[in-house]
Amino acid sequence: TNTPLAKPKWLRVKLPTGKKYRELRGLVDKYELNTICQSGSCPNMGECWGDGTATFMILGNICTRSCGFCGVKTGRPLAVDYTEPEKVANSIKLMQIKHAVLTSVDRDDIKDMGSFIWAETVNAVRRISPGTTMETLIPDFQGIHQHIDRLLEVSPEVISHNMETVKRLTREVRIQAKYERSLDVLKYLKDQGQRRTKTGLMLGLGEENEEVFETIQDIRNAGVDIITIGQYLQPSKKHLPVKKFITPEEFKEFEVFAKGLGFRHVESSPLVRSSYKAAKHIE
Ligand code: SF4
Ligand code: SF4
Repeated sequence: TNTPLAKPKWLRVKLPTGKKYRELRGLVDKYELNTICQSGSCPNMGECWGDGTATFMILGNICTRSCGFCGVKTGRPLAVDYTEPEKVANSIKLMQIKHAVLTSVDRDDIKDMGSFIWAETVNAVRRISPGTTMETLIPDFQGIHQHIDRLLEVSPEVISHNMETVKRLTREVRIQAKYERSLDVLKYLKDQGQRRTKTGLMLGLGEENEEVFETIQDIRNAGVDIITIGQYLQPSKKHLPVKKFITPEEFKEFEVFAKGLGFRHVESSPLVRSSYKAAKHIE
């Protein structure tokens, strides 16, 4: 009904380039490898792939949840593929990925919510591509510690869980999720001794800047080490509209605030995605 806001010039997509990018692109096409970078047409591909970073999705590509911002298909997922951990690890090896970001759809339909496949995937990458470091961007596992523990046991370099938005908008943006529950997941990870924890926010969904500052503070209070803050972009007309394009200056203000609170790494600018420059986050 409303006409979409015109995209400001700082969001113009950079075409991916570079020798390393072209090499990887060739491999991905030849072996039909799946990356979120490609399926989400991420604007940072040239940069990330050039650095040896890519994001892989596990547990299929149909999600049991239906977040209003997300381009992943919702529905009844296919049966779990027990060969998936090896397939993903082989892709990572073939692509010579130095730092892999692993993420998944939410599997509220299975008893362990996918935690077994999660742990097996980390183990398979360690075995098949031992030089690769990992960030696991996990679902909330409905806050159940037993499932989260499986990740803690295999100890990826970074464990992340995205808050995505401020408290007031959580219901609208991530209908089956809860703000406090996600914060508790992050806090639990840290309390259990996870070395690096990380989260991400998308802005432009109708939040006030004051609410962003509060959210950053809540996240820091949960002991989180790394935060990424980027602009929300609408994957299709059926998804939540962009309410506002946050200016680069505003992103800078959030960055300065977050740095002041003592985060180890802060990425805050319009094109930031939660896996952007992820390799830096293990330093
Ligand atoms: Fe891939 Fe994430 Fe980098 Fe985008 S920001 S290219 S999704 S690793
Ligand atoms: Fe997308 Fe994750 Fe929400 Fe599923 S749970 S709809 S994959 S954001």
